[in-house]
Amino acid sequence: MLTSIKGRSVIVTGGSKGIGRGIATVFARQGAKVMIAARGADSAKAASDAMNAEGATTSWTTCDVSDWDSVQAMVAKTAEVFGGVDILCANAGIFPQTKMVDMDPAEWDRVMSTNLRSAFLCVKACIPQFEKNGRGRVVLTSSITGPITGFPGWAHYGASKAGQLGFLKTASMELARYKTTINAVMPGNIYTEGLQDLGQDYLDTMAASIPLKRLGAVEDIGNAALFFASDEAGYITGQQIVVDGGQTIPE
Ligand code: NDP
Repeated sequence: MLTSIKGRSVIVTGGSKGIGRGIATVFARQGAKVMIAARGADSAKAASDAMNAEGATTSWTTCDVSDWDSVQAMVAKTAEVFGGVDILCANAGIFPQTKMVDMDPAEWDRVMSTNLRSAFLCVKACIPQFEKNGRGRVVLTSSITGPITGFPGWAHYGASKAGQLGFLKTASMELARYKTTINAVMPGNIYTEGLQDLGQDYLDTMAASIPLKRLGAVEDIGNAALFFASDEAGYITGQQIVVDGGQTIPE
């Protein structure tokens, strides 16, 4: 057990479902106090209620991570409910798939805003909390798509995820004065509700192409985030870790 997580206050953006919910669950099981943030109130509340029913300490708030006022309100609410913010898991993201020839420039902006601008906004809003604590942890959910691989229809998505890694290099330098680290997890193909529509045959084929012969579980990403957030990882900053079952290892 990473003992340093117990009692810590954690924001998980996009914590209502998918990978974010997995991250929230992993932290809650370690005894952290988890703020689940998403745009949809119903799904954020439902996720929080379900975790609390299993003995977790969570709360929820609506937030649009691309909006500065909304992000500030999320951080203020977390500080009010849990007495501060120790850890930020900036995970919320969108991934519409549109080839560039058909892509409305507004869609490019929306993806950049939700996936990349949000990282800056969430980190910026948490800095006063980290300064007050004399420590802090930030974990970004990036992707293998962009930094390592490409995928047709995801020019904007890939650029935003690679951009997160560019952001984190300088952010790690600026956050060091607050004894705060920032690192990124780069998931491969992770099994979420959203993938169910693809059908079992497609998912089986996808799994067969991965060296570890399965899609990732949302908890696989949560466990990597947990390590980065722990005291034990206190000398690691500005780094990224691929969690993809070996998918991007070149032959
Ligand atoms: P889901 O679509 O399952 O969940 C996305 C979450 O983000 C939801 O809680 C959603 O809630 C929230 N969200 C979306 N937009 C916003 C916004 N503007 N403000 C606040 N919350 C928002 O996605 P995944 O779990 O699959 O993906 C999570 C992250 O992991 C993303 O950053 C994604 O790029 C990354 N990733 C996912 C992979 C995968 O295989 N699934 C692979 C690699 C990276 P709501 O809609 O209510 O706001």
